[in-house]
Amino acid sequence: MDCVFCKILAGEIPGKILYQDEEVVAFPDINPQAPIHILIIPRKHIPSLADTTEADSALLGHLVSVANQMAKEAGIAQSGYRLVINCGQEGGQVVPHLHLHLLGRKSLSDTLG
Ligand code: AMP
Ligand code: ZN
Repeated sequence: MDCVFCKILAGEIPGKILYQDEEVVAFPDINPQAPIHILIIPRKHIPSLADTTEADSALLGHLVSVANQMAKEAGIAQSGYRLVINCGQEGGQVVPHLHLHLLGRKSLSDTLG
């Protein structure tokens, strides 16, 4: 499959893995939009949030929970952070493998994106 994130999961693209378990992997964004910019993705290739169903609720909850854990480890859980999921073309999604953006260490409070 020609999916950049599946290639990272398969070890075909070298990169720093910050966290991994049976369901989820986290790694730094290659083009950070904030001093801390981490991507949290499911191992399962789900193209976008629009492709999830109620059956994915536990996985989605786990992705958010791991994001919060990564924020704690990065020392931004108290100062604050933003989680973003871009969904589909008009949502600004470029990589068609579901992912959460964890952004922190700059003031994001007055911006939407
Ligand atoms: P989105 O616009 O929500 O699809 O975001 C895709 C994100 O993936 C962008 O922030 C890219 O910088 C990031 N990205 C693309 N390729 C890689 C890669 N090989 N390693 C890490 N991050 C990547
Ligand atoms: Zn994929």
